[in-house]
Amino acid sequence: MLASAIIANKRDGQKLSRAEIEFMIDGFVSAAVPDYQMSAWAMAVLCRGMDTREISDLTECMLNSGIRLQPATDRPRVDKHSTGGLGDKTSLVLAPLLACCDLDVPMLSGRGLGITGGTLDKLEAFSGYRCDLNATEIDQQLKSLGCVITGTTPEITPADRKLYSLRDVTATVPSIALITASIMSKKLAESLDALVLDVKFGSGAFMRDRVDAEQLAESLVSTGNQMHVPTQAIISDMNQPLGRMVGNACEVNESLDILRGAGPKETRDLTLHLCASLLVASGKVTRTQDALDLLVAKLDSGQALRRFQQMVEHQSGKFVDYLPLANESVFASPTNGRLMQFDGQLIGQAVIELGGGRRKLSDRIDHQVGLEMLARLGDTVSAGQPLIRIFARTNATRAVAEQLLLSAVSIAH
Ligand code: URA
Repeated sequence: MLASAIIANKRDGQKLSRAEIEFMIDGFVSAAVPDYQMSAWAMAVLCRGMDTREISDLTECMLNSGIRLQPATDRPRVDKHSTGGLGDKTSLVLAPLLACCDLDVPMLSGRGLGITGGTLDKLEAFSGYRCDLNATEIDQQLKSLGCVITGTTPEITPADRKLYSLRDVTATVPSIALITASIMSKKLAESLDALVLDVKFGSGAFMRDRVDAEQLAESLVSTGNQMHVPTQAIISDMNQPLGRMVGNACEVNESLDILRGAGPKETRDLTLHLCASLLVASGKVTRTQDALDLLVAKLDSGQALRRFQQMVEHQSGKFVDYLPLANESVFASPTNGRLMQFDGQLIGQAVIELGGGRRKLSDRIDHQVGLEMLARLGDTVSAGQPLIRIFARTNATRAVAEQLLLSAVSIAH
């Protein structure tokens, strides 16, 4: 086989065989297929797309490039993946909450890049929290606690790690086929019994358009199901941040509120919905209402909070009831009227300018900075009314954030 012939076939719109896909992925991982050929291939895939059989084959080849975590207990293993958005902190509650319901949650998460935050960055707001557990440590923690939130290990899907770096610099990230194989190969490496996907659309999401989000959701679900992992997706709106808090320690504090049985309704409802779908899909509970009742009882009794604290401490983090935040000030409404739009890109940019996000993967994060949304879309506001609380480290970063927020907010008279 020749890589150049496979690239030409894809360029001409032909379907690739399993053997051809395997040749490209295995060759790329072993460096027999050089970066320049893989880049051309990724561009051909972006332009021509792949059908569901090709996407499943690609996912499986990427999965097979590394190890799979093996079930640690006889409890059902479940996980959730979100395509990411502003203030999306559901993972922090979901993992310990489901662990309290006798499910194992081996959650391999990522870091934030651009405007979307990363679960690992949020958890590292607890000083000392380790995100580099190896497969044995993941196993041991699942046996004792039923939940773990850590980074992918180097042995899991090395093909994705290498291909993602190449996609990033060759403008091939937006391919539905490549996104599907990237996300699903990592999730399937967790050896799950059920998976739920939260695919977001809107100004604060990776996919701005609902139709694109639906197409991605369909591709993810059909790939999961073809690979024998019961998979479902919800599509959720990211035209304003989820809940009140955006930023690392800010979001942990909101999650702690939810784990205490309180917190903003929107974040709590979405988390409960995702958890309930996994309880039903794993066969633990038959009816959604019974799942919701069970979950609320685990929150209200403090069990979920205790499990979260145990997870943080097991991963060497210093747990505190409430994480300190940077100096606060208020961004006030410039006028009277109705809140019509939040530009998620600009709000995310404001968090980056405060130091709470990354422009490149090597940037350091300031965990204590962020935003608290004090008003929601559709609210009637008056001039001078506090709209957003800003947690900033310096006056200079605060001033830049304020300018961005001014452009991000649209108010109709
Ligand atoms: N997240 C991933 O893990 N991979 C992608 O390709 C896009 C988002």
